[in-house]
Amino acid sequence: MNKLIRKIIGGASPTDEEVKHLLSVDGEDAAVLHQAAREVCDSVYGKKVFIRGLIEISSYCKNDCLYCGIRRSNRCAERYRLTPDEIVECALYGYSIGFRTFVLQGGEDGYFTDAVVCRVVERIKSSCEGCAVTLSLGERSTDSYAQLRRSGADRYLLRHESADFEHYAKLHPRELTLENRIRCLGDLKSLGFQTGCGFMVGSPHQTLDSIVKDIRFIEELQPEMVGIGPFIPHRDTPFRDSPAGSVSLTLNCLAIVRLILPKVLLPATTALGSLEGGGRERGILAGANVVMPNLSPHDVRRKYSLYDNKLSTGVESVEGLSELRKAIESIGYVMSLERGDHLSVK
Ligand code: SAH
Repeated sequence: MNKLIRKIIGGASPTDEEVKHLLSVDGEDAAVLHQAAREVCDSVYGKKVFIRGLIEISSYCKNDCLYCGIRRSNRCAERYRLTPDEIVECALYGYSIGFRTFVLQGGEDGYFTDAVVCRVVERIKSSCEGCAVTLSLGERSTDSYAQLRRSGADRYLLRHESADFEHYAKLHPRELTLENRIRCLGDLKSLGFQTGCGFMVGSPHQTLDSIVKDIRFIEELQPEMVGIGPFIPHRDTPFRDSPAGSVSLTLNCLAIVRLILPKVLLPATTALGSLEGGGRERGILAGANVVMPNLSPHDVRRKYSLYDNKLSTGVESVEGLSELRKAIESIGYVMSLERGDHLSVK
């Protein structure tokens, strides 16, 4: 175990069998893996955990991803969209309490044209001096990403969802392809966005072999951010009866990604915290170093329902900031409100 960990820390890529072994460890070996990942993260970012304000801008979506609660064909989903003024107000509020990164996430909603998003980004960047804006608005054209980048957006999150073509096809309708996701992620990287990919752990039909492909994909793309959280079923989707992903497998994935990309910005996701009390803290202790509390207006939070029982209050929200600070401090870390760029950014 220690030899394998040292090999990866030394910069060597683990073999497929070694990745599978690391994914499967439990008990004492898991503790060793998580601790090693934590130490790697400490050596790069110290004891800081970066905070991002998450603004969920729209629950309208033209896509029909089988796992997602806001998929187009879910007639039960309550739809909402924030106005540009509301989005800017959320950011200003976050800025007033110290936030320096805002993540604008939403379904693929045709209302949010390039012109609309660019204007919102420009307004946030000019009224919140020194802040970073992250977008997470799904697949767009190369030209669209270029315009968003020119408007001042710093980062873009687009999980690849699965790097295994067969698995990808089981999670998505035919019109969504892994090829296009990869095209998008390549565009984002070339445009100079700090780029985030990622995947769900335990999504239906996922195998350890598909996770090995995810890890290989991450090694190749060299993203600045990686979002990894457990799959959680949503009652109004075709996957309603599928079991949720495992917390321990999620922690092993986080730790492996930290070992292969020491500088990566790695969130302890809301899904991890939603699945298990203290999940986020366990994520941090396995190598995560970002937390994204919810800054969306109260009345819309329950409508951005990607999966059942998604947390949006308490420590998961901006109102729980002092609690979140305590939770982070209780495990020996400090909450940082800085921009928290990837270390490659000058
Ligand atoms: N439209 C944007 C944002 C999608 S929501 C985009 O395409 O990037 C953000 C992430 O939530 C998704 O990438 C997906 O990995 C995750 N998600 C969706 N449904 C989920 C579920 N049932 N359980 C866990 N995570 C889910």
